[in-house]
Amino acid sequence: MSSLPDKVRSDFPILGKTVNGHPLVYLDTAATALKPRSVIDAVEQVYGQFPANVHRGVHTLSREATAAYEGARGTVRSFLNAARSEEIVFTSGTTGAINLVAHSWGALELEPGDEVILSHMEHHSNIVPWKMLCDAKGLHLKIIPVADNGELFLEAFRALLGPRTKLVSIVHASNMLGTVNPIEDIIRESHAHGAKVLVDAAQSAPCLPLDVQALDCDFLAFSGHKLFGPTGIGVLYAKADLLEMMPPFMGGGDMILSVSFDEICYNKPPYRFEAGTPNIAGAVGLGRAIEYVLDIGFDAIWQHEQDLLEAARAALEEIDGVRIIGTAPEKVAILSFVIEGVHPHDTGSILDSCGVAIRAGHHCTQPLMARFGVPATARAAFSIYNTMEDVKRLASAVRKVQEIML
Ligand code: PLP
Repeated sequence: MSSLPDKVRSDFPILGKTVNGHPLVYLDTAATALKPRSVIDAVEQVYGQFPANVHRGVHTLSREATAAYEGARGTVRSFLNAARSEEIVFTSGTTGAINLVAHSWGALELEPGDEVILSHMEHHSNIVPWKMLCDAKGLHLKIIPVADNGELFLEAFRALLGPRTKLVSIVHASNMLGTVNPIEDIIRESHAHGAKVLVDAAQSAPCLPLDVQALDCDFLAFSGHKLFGPTGIGVLYAKADLLEMMPPFMGGGDMILSVSFDEICYNKPPYRFEAGTPNIAGAVGLGRAIEYVLDIGFDAIWQHEQDLLEAARAALEEIDGVRIIGTAPEKVAILSFVIEGVHPHDTGSILDSCGVAIRAGHHCTQPLMARFGVPATARAAFSIYNTMEDVKRLASAVRKVQEIML
């Protein structure tokens, strides 16, 4: 077993917390990750040392804030291996990034009768903006079905591709099933049909290296807070030529070059898409979070999380009456399960009384819940700071749920 938690646990102040009389076992990283001291310090440094606005001021503090904010953009650029910093737009999160694409690129490029392909395992944030656009513009949504083990039916995907397909918007790793989708193939085949591809990397960015040039995706979105960064900050990567032609989504300060009551001249990307005062401390904190992840390295992160996933799967499979949902061969460290005869909310509450934090609910994937015939699941997600002891505490708390409820 890797010694990663020995190295990193002391970086996370919250792990010293006791919950309901037990040391905290945090298994809800798929909802949001804990924050290391270096990220907390980076945010504090912004407010403590240069709490000024960016881009506008000529004074020293404003220049320092601008340098830190634009420095974070550079860190994101190299993290994604984007060709240029201008291809990195700061948003409020994955949701903000997808809505930006739908409202800007989608409103400009999509015509009545055009088709948008999604999968059955999308998060609501990659369904609702497209459904809204489809309803407004007379587009059609096409849905790639999911097999019983949680993999996509790729043959069905190929059959959906056609001359009217304009966009394939697809999750890289499912936040409910954990399935890692073969996005390289999906991107290649979509491009062969002339469709653009948006990758929702909310769950993959924290544990898999992403190279947008190698992937050749047109858009990619992720959230800072799932990657040990602050909440309220995220990223839209888009190819430069697409951003150049996209109209702004929101109007306001900083996204313009000149304004009169007769005419407005918009700023160039990425500023055209960052109206108003941005989340400066969030961006700087995200930059620091990325450095933190890169210091550990994706090989170590992936191996450790896979060890925990495998141990947790084996431990839960030993318990009669526990059903795991999502058994694809390639998964991020997310384990959804149901205990026969117990509502997942009761599971979550009893686990909480044991100091074990999991997620219980529909995980913003209601179509997927319907697909698997459950109203909700319990979900344990494993990260760099989790240990084999955490897996044992999960399994014993699940047994306690059965003792209390059945
Ligand atoms: N996509 C996936 C796969 C997610 O897991 C999430 C959050 O859980 C989102 C999108 C939305 O992320 P955010 O709420 O940070 O915008």
